[in-house]
Order: sequence, then C-alpha cells, then structure tokens
Amino acid sequence: MNCDDARSAFLSGAASQPELDHLGSCSDCRNEWDALETSRQVLEDQSFWVEPSPTLEDRVVAMIGETPQPVAPPRPRRWLWTLGGGAAAALGAIAVWAGLPSTAPDWEVAIPGTSEAPDASGVVRGWNEWNGTRVVLDIEGLPPAPDGSLYEFWFSRDELHISAGTFAAPDSVELWVGVSKADFPRLWITLEPVDEDESPSGNNMMDSG
Ligand SMILES: [Zn+2]
Repeated sequence: MNCDDARSAFLSGAASQPELDHLGSCSDCRNEWDALETSRQVLEDQSFWVEPSPTLEDRVVAMIGETPQPVAPPRPRRWLWTLGGGAAAALGAIAVWAGLPSTAPDWEVAIPGTSEAPDASGVVRGWNEWNGTRVVLDIEGLPPAPDGSLYEFWFSRDELHISAGTFAAPDSVELWVGVSKADFPRLWITLEPVDEDESPSGNNMMDSG
C-alpha cells in the first residue's frame, strides 16, 4: 500500500479497510488529511459532475497534443478512477476537465442586425479545430423564425458560401462548420424558407460585414 493508492481510493469513494488503515497510520497521509477530506466532499457533490461530452477526448488530446488514447466510460467515478493512477493525477485531471467548458474562444466577432432585423445584435465566438470550427452564437433581439422558415448561419468568402447549419430560434445555438474563419471571414445569418433550395435566400438578417 502506498500513499497515492490509498488517497486515490479514498477520493473515489472506493476505499476499503487496508486503505483506511493506511490513511490512519501513515504520518504523511495524516498531514494531508484536511486537503483530502475537502477534496472528497467536492467530489461527492453531484452538481460537480457533468457528463463528459462526446468531443471531450478530442479536445483533451488537442490541448495536450498527443496521440488519441481510448478514454474511460461515462460513469463519473470510473472516469476519475481510470484517469488517476494516483491522487495527484486524479486531481490534475479534474482541474483540466473543470477548465474545459470555459476555455476562451479563439476569436470573437460582433454580428449586428441588418435593416431586416434592426433590433438584433450579437456576438459569434469560435474555436479553431483541426477539422473545422465550433461556433457559439450569443444573439439578442432576433425573434424565433416564422413557421415554414429557419435561420441559417453562413461562413462566406466572396460568392462562396458554406452553411454552418440552421436554427429555429437564437437561444443557446452551437454550430459546427468544416472551414476556418481565416479562409471564410464573412459571417452572416439568413432567414430561409424550408424548401429544396440549399443556397442563401438573400433574406440577410445579421451580418458581420
Ligand atoms: Zn500514506
């Protein structure tokens, strides 16, 4: 029994008698007891745990620049347990994990409403990935699309338009496009009738210019 194994078991809620005996008898572990107990309480708090998103592994790999490795299943404790061979590793993984949702965007662009939507305003945030761009829209003053129509988000360069997807109302919209803003710098939103025509309608509602 070494210190890391005992502390990991304790933090994961899986400590059995040998681990508990170690924690009680080892002077190093007793010195760390307050920190261990605080960490365990944080880990016990259900609101602390978020289901890892399907892209988490890729994002972690992109962050650390290593070859993808098979990553653990979604049960939070097993996830933690698998990542952490020791308490330090486990806590390090949690720190990385907790930091991911708030990772700063690579770019941010204002997207004002056109004369078609003069009350609309917003910001587009983007994360550059090796295979495209993740886009999050933060828009105010744009009503839900009328029945029979959808909003569509475009990345454009001159007359070349790449659709990043559609949405019915501008709440919590997160999109993906397979190109980069560096190559397609104009970002804009059209109102599209639901029909067989896949090109932009010309009903330009918001436009980064
Ligand atoms: Zn110890």
